[in-house]
Amino acid sequence: MTTIAFIGLGNMGGPMACNLAKAGYEVNAYDLSTAALKVVTDAGAHGCDSAVAAAQGASIVISMLPAGQHVETLYLGSEGLFRKIAPQTLVIDSSTIAPETSRKVAEAAQSSDIRFLDAPVSGGVAGATAGTLTFMCGGPVKEYNEARPILECMGKNIFHAGGNGAGQVAKICNNMLLSILMCGTSEALALGEKNGLDPSVLSEVMKQSSGGNWVLNGYNPWPGVMENAPASKGYQGGFLVDLMSKDLGLALDNAVTNKAAIPLGSLARNLFQFHGQQGNGKLDFSSIQNFYRDSKQS
Ligand code: NAD
Repeated sequence: MTTIAFIGLGNMGGPMACNLAKAGYEVNAYDLSTAALKVVTDAGAHGCDSAVAAAQGASIVISMLPAGQHVETLYLGSEGLFRKIAPQTLVIDSSTIAPETSRKVAEAAQSSDIRFLDAPVSGGVAGATAGTLTFMCGGPVKEYNEARPILECMGKNIFHAGGNGAGQVAKICNNMLLSILMCGTSEALALGEKNGLDPSVLSEVMKQSSGGNWVLNGYNPWPGVMENAPASKGYQGGFLVDLMSKDLGLALDNAVTNKAAIPLGSLARNLFQFHGQQGNGKLDFSSIQNFYRDSKQS
């Protein structure tokens, strides 16, 4: 029986670890929050009181942490996990972090004879709960092939994007495009509505025309157009404005490092940053629609 250590049991990591336990893996779980740990132990995982304890006897370690500094703290340095776990352990980091940070961690892993994959995800909390996440992996093919059956217990689309860091690059490119699609769709809907068009009718027209896109197909930002979209539930749930700002910040940093021009990504980053600072950070990112609407409208 393969034992998996799972570190970071928040909104995403919690349901992911539960799905591994349900699939029959021995899961050693650890989180700084005892409340987060309880949800996962209730689902059959073994609760541990430190990351080192969780990694004892595990051949796979998965982390799902908020940001790059948390990942560096967990693995690097004299107290980091890379100094404590068995050689040849396969470490899979699913946190969304900068590709440069992920490559730095991968290099440190290699010098400790640890195998490392970056495997950030798309699909949000709903995808984590349903086990339908998309994984974008970066690292050697051998490790990717070994990780695949485990990732398939948590997701339905598993991609190998390239070498170490490539999964993180794919993730930030995808989210940059998504943010641009969301802003563009919101802008078009607001302009149509100013002209007296029904946003539902305009949405259907654009969906069947050359402006059709993922947002119009399943995540319409105008309240009431799609019953199950966050827009029709007061922009609750879904993918937070603050998380989109974080990912766009990673895209911007990466573009600066690589001397890439991302004019639309940069504009989208500023729109989401500003929108978050106006008190909307904990709303779903489709609430950017309100940025384009008069405040007197509901
Ligand atoms: P979260 O804040 O809900 O969970 C993070 C968890 O990590 C918390 O429970 C926290 O206590 C724990 N933690 C922090 N430092 C730790 C440490 N040193 N040891 C053990 N536990 C520690 O965040 P989340 O929404 O689950 O997101 C996790 C990652 O997934 C982030 O990188 C995020 O960008 C990415 N992501 C999130 C979503 C989403 O919709 N929430 C979607 C895709 C990707």
